[in-house]
Amino acid sequence: MKYTIPFNKPYLTGKEVEYIKNAVSSGKISGDGLYTKKCHEFFEKEYGFKKCLLTTSCTDALEMAAILIDIQPGDEVIMPSYTFVSTANAFVLRGAKIVFADSNTDNPNIDIDSIEKLITPKTKAIVPVHYAGIACNMDAIMDIADKHSLFVIEDAAQAIDSFYTGKDGIKRPLGSIGHLAAFSFHETKNIISGEGGMLVINDLKFAQRAEIIREKGTNRSQFFRGEVDKYSWVDIGSSFLPSDIIAAFLFAQLENISNIQEVRKKHWKQYYDGLLSWSIDNQVKLPFINEFATNNAHMFYIVCKNLEQRTRIIEKLKANGILSVFHYLSLHTSPFIANTADSILINSDNYSECLLRLPMYYELQTEEIKTIIDLIKEA
Ligand SMILES: *Cc1c(COP(=O)(O)O)cnc(C)c1O
Repeated sequence: MKYTIPFNKPYLTGKEVEYIKNAVSSGKISGDGLYTKKCHEFFEKEYGFKKCLLTTSCTDALEMAAILIDIQPGDEVIMPSYTFVSTANAFVLRGAKIVFADSNTDNPNIDIDSIEKLITPKTKAIVPVHYAGIACNMDAIMDIADKHSLFVIEDAAQAIDSFYTGKDGIKRPLGSIGHLAAFSFHETKNIISGEGGMLVINDLKFAQRAEIIREKGTNRSQFFRGEVDKYSWVDIGSSFLPSDIIAAFLFAQLENISNIQEVRKKHWKQYYDGLLSWSIDNQVKLPFINEFATNNAHMFYIVCKNLEQRTRIIEKLKANGILSVFHYLSLHTSPFIANTADSILINSDNYSECLLRLPMYYELQTEEIKTIIDLIKEA
């Protein structure tokens, strides 16, 4: 079926092809070329991330994080069940046991009060996911982690250009708070490169090893900087770095980030204002943004009263050529994870059944959003 309003449409700023051409004619299109450096500098300057490394996906960045914190078979990692498979898979690859936490009733982020009960002597890390780009309660998470000597790895896949204001009153970008963080530039995110991602290293003790793991376990980066006189195999690793062609595409996007964000936020607000009174009348919940969080307009979702209501809205939109989509099926119920009897996660299951994402992309028109709002109300 061809939708007149798709769920997502990748937005091109106009400079992507020009920068790719530049990268190609520079003669160096493998990783860590000119555009990769420009992207690293952009992130380090704009957001104050201590060290950034582009990867070929957020999944890769999470896999690097699992290696960096030295996950061993049997180690336990706590994360929300309501997340993408990669959040868990990256740690499962190293032999970890995933311990799933429930989501908040207000929004799908990890329920802080459920975390401490899940900690055992084997727990090694907490992986908060900033769902829809809305910050988790990072002070609470960092406090728990400090108390139990755990690592915190932010899954910031959806959280570019979003912020958290802590107890100290300082506003920090998401991805700058945990020991490590992973971003995604998949074409469904705000800032894209087709496939792409980034590892952010906030605890610099991981910096050197991160470079090595990303370069197949070799100290090639140090060699190119002239810090060692030959390069050799020094650790485990893989090929996690993207070609400079991908970085060239990404850089064109980054140059336009404020415009992209502004337009997306305008769309988001139109949905919110248009649906607010209807949502109250129909027991539907709109996104909840805590006072400590900002909104990066990654996603506009509604949480329906029940499955029937959601199905009715999906069908109504579909009949009018509009694609709306539900989201994660709780990982603790997935066929791959041997189900532990006590894992009943009410809120997570509720989001699996009732959360619905509406079309959200740069080129969406005011009139189109109005149509979507009207159709939802009719449904
Ligand atoms: C998109 C996403 C990922 C995976 O990102 P890739 O770049 O496609 O690997 C991981 N976690 C979350 C929460 C995501 O939304």
